Amino acid sequence: MNLAKDIIKGNRTALGQGITLIESTLPKHKKQAQELINNCLTHSGESIRIGITGIPGVGKSTFIDVFGNLLTKKGHKVAVLAIDPTSKKTQGSILGDKTRMSKLSNNENAFVRPSPNKNTLGGIAAKTRESIILCEAAGFDIILIETVGVGQSETKVESIVDFFLLLMLAGAGDELQGIKRGIMELADALIITKSDGKNLQDAKNAALRYKNAIHLFPITENGWIPQVKICSALENNGIDQIYNLIIDFDTQMKNNGWKKENRYNQQKLWLHQIIKEELGNQKYEKLLNENVIEKFEITLSESKSVYHIFDRLK
Ligand code: GDP
Repeated sequence: MNLAKDIIKGNRTALGQGITLIESTLPKHKKQAQELINNCLTHSGESIRIGITGIPGVGKSTFIDVFGNLLTKKGHKVAVLAIDPTSKKTQGSILGDKTRMSKLSNNENAFVRPSPNKNTLGGIAAKTRESIILCEAAGFDIILIETVGVGQSETKVESIVDFFLLLMLAGAGDELQGIKRGIMELADALIITKSDGKNLQDAKNAALRYKNAIHLFPITENGWIPQVKICSALENNGIDQIYNLIIDFDTQMKNNGWKKENRYNQQKLWLHQIIKEELGNQKYEKLLNENVIEKFEITLSESKSVYHIFDRLK
């Protein structure tokens, strides 16, 4: 398949076309999309996958623009996949124009891709997971997945990323930001944005408050203590520390085996999700009860698509 070859060569146009194919709901594209994913999988996996969330206006795109450019300066290739649940009405993406993340969009070591939301939240995560595979095959080693904080989407995104960054405003109440405790508990880092000018003191106070709150959270499975940082994308302050934090996290999680284990668990979720979507709930429950899915789980690996397993289930 030429598209796969071009993607693996790092051709960004081919990458864009590949993601469009994956997102297509036309039945004739489905088989092609699965084949493309299969061909890209052996070239994927080597990246840090970072979820970034927060309410509209918190400063996500400004942050990603500055952060992404810093990453490329450090020698990384950055792909940004934006999930936009608010675009439901238009069936297109409100982020479609390149005015957001304008610097990063013009950076030759970056790829910025807004994805319209045509599916369920679960669907978004599934398609995004597959888009990540393509981005990695194209040589992108840091993948940023942006979501608007609407509650449910974060938990889905959590199931496809290694590191979860929650952006927050100082001064706005947690409820106002749609931030439930559960979501805060998912975060590997809480970042207070716009920590500049007259906001700076408020940001420092908020950071202290969150640091205290985090102490009360249950200890995480991977041994990581969630971090609270302040930053200003506008003044380019604190962005470097966030980079260091993520690299530290990645090193620790590789060393203690959690990264691998987490990715395996995420693959299991992917398998379950696809079986449910393709065969329906009833068949899924039946396979689950007969321990058929469990047997296939053992054969999962990062370089294999869940589709080849799925084909054998049909
Ligand atoms: P998003 O909706 O979460 O993507 O937020 P945007 O990145 O579009 O930012 C929303 C508004 O906040 C814009 O007017 C930005 O200029 C402003 N903004 C973003 N980052 C900063 C920052 O670091 N400091 C200040 N003072 N304003 C910021």
